[in-house]
Amino acid sequence: MSVEIIVADITTLAVDAIVNAANESLLGGGGVDGAIHRAAGPGLLAECRTLGGCPTGEARLTAGYDLPARHVIHTVGPVWRGGGAGEAALLAACYRQSLALAEAAGCDSIAFPAISTGVYGYPAGLAAAIAVREVLAWQNSGSQPGRIILCCFSEESAAAHRAAMRQHEEKSLK
Ligand code: ADP
Repeated sequence: MSVEIIVADITTLAVDAIVNAANESLLGGGGVDGAIHRAAGPGLLAECRTLGGCPTGEARLTAGYDLPARHVIHTVGPVWRGGGAGEAALLAACYRQSLALAEAAGCDSIAFPAISTGVYGYPAGLAAAIAVREVLAWQNSGSQPGRIILCCFSEESAAAHRAAMRQHEEKSLK
């Protein structure tokens, strides 16, 4: 079992599933969503059209098409509205629902982008703390996938995740 923090373009990762930070339409957008659709090719958009969208905090599974990843798990993170609109619970739900879909699909490995921290404006440190807490809790409960990658797009984002990991470890030693 492992949780890795790396800096990479998620579209290049040969894992069982990559997670897409999508919007409720599931019909593509900017940021990581645009990159995933470009790399996967038109088959991905065609499958997404059959899904009828996805509410915030939920996730949906598709094939990976031209990506090296076997599956794409599309999840819709919350737009940051200052923290009083249930954002933390919704973001945690994105991680848990994505992991549950990956487990149900028999995935051994999954990679997450830093959901909601781009256009959706979630503060990087707060989002990283939730990401770390949820993936460690998942693994500690013995669930699959056993290999979880937090795929950051900048060194700054990776530093926020490493700091969150350290804070989590310090807390669990107390
Ligand atoms: P959201 O709308 O959920 O905020 P964004 O795509 O705008 O989604 O950003 C989410 C995170 O994904 C940001 O940290 C952004 O830097 C990162 N990101 C953008 N492109 C990629 C990529 N190709 N691989 C991994 N992460 C990416």
